Amino acid sequence: MRQATVYIDSEALQYNLNRVKQLSPTAKIVSMVKANAYGHGVKDCLAALANTDAFGVACLAEAIEIRELGYQQPITLIEGIFSAEEMQIVIDQNIELIVHHQQQLDWLLTHKDAYIAKNLKVWVKLNSGMNRLGFKVDDIISVIHTLKAEGFTCVLAMHFANADAENHPLNEQQKSQFLRVKEACEPIMASCCNSAAIFKWPELNFDFVRPGIMLYGASPFADKTAHDLDIKPVMTFTAEIIALNTIQAGESVGYGSTFIAEKETELAIVSIGYGDGYPRAFPKQNHVAINGRKVAVIGRVAMDMIAIDVTGINAPIGTEVELWGKNRLVDDVAEANGTIGYELLCRLSHRPIRKKI
Ligand SMILES: *Cc1c(COP(=O)(O)O)cnc(C)c1O
Repeated sequence: MRQATVYIDSEALQYNLNRVKQLSPTAKIVSMVKANAYGHGVKDCLAALANTDAFGVACLAEAIEIRELGYQQPITLIEGIFSAEEMQIVIDQNIELIVHHQQQLDWLLTHKDAYIAKNLKVWVKLNSGMNRLGFKVDDIISVIHTLKAEGFTCVLAMHFANADAENHPLNEQQKSQFLRVKEACEPIMASCCNSAAIFKWPELNFDFVRPGIMLYGASPFADKTAHDLDIKPVMTFTAEIIALNTIQAGESVGYGSTFIAEKETELAIVSIGYGDGYPRAFPKQNHVAINGRKVAVIGRVAMDMIAIDVTGINAPIGTEVELWGKNRLVDDVAEANGTIGYELLCRLSHRPIRKKI
């Protein structure tokens, strides 16, 4: 059988959840499991994250999946609902909303009694400069006052645009707007930390933190590895050597013949390609790991195969090759591909076999 396999390490996931607890001991943890748990497979991840306080997802379909798997924790819909019809499902399934524009507010107010009767919190989103979702600083205070007067329990919510950047000026603007609104709306619960902010600003952890990438053991920072942050990669993505070729100086490999050997080279062909979600672009030299050793990928990534340079390495057919995982960090593969670990993890196709370890 073709071996392209995604191993999910439940203990690593639990370890990383405990890291969040260590870093923010008083806040409740909303584990972000959107996009199929960042590509890891929501079913296995929910089982490993059963101790979390709550879940965060991007849409109702993702929330319903969690309920269907039997989990009762609060779920926050981080973009809220997209049509009035979704409101009734939200109430039936006990799902909490973010509201970020007036129409969502109107939909919520129409279902006020049922929503409040279910003890669901309303997350009110501040746009403090990221300029995607949310009420502007001048409008949100009256929105929150209205909701509180109507009897809703509110959480002031905000998202940083540059939490991963050391000294971006927008960080201070976003923080100060958030604190100003919070003060004007006291008493109110608050939440503004994603993974990067959890590491950097413990003083901003407040009532709820919203870790995503750190749970999966990838780094939110370009200049810090999972190891630096004491988190463990949850996913190990592997394939196998399926053929060996020796080529001579002047010979090439793969589409476009982009790699031309300068000397005799032993090639191994590996059963992985962009059809599995392995990226193709690679403006920089990429590597895989064989028994912990770094091995260069050469030539173009095809739909089902790549070639690697195994000159001088004992790597017979059937040898397992780590595309990313504990020995070859997804962040490093992403860097060679001009992207971030988040994207590579989410972009995996349905083709690799998934196994829980
Ligand atoms: C995805 C998301 C997070 C998690 O971000 P990470 O960088 O993965 O930790 C937190 N909050 C919101 C609103 C999000 O959309």
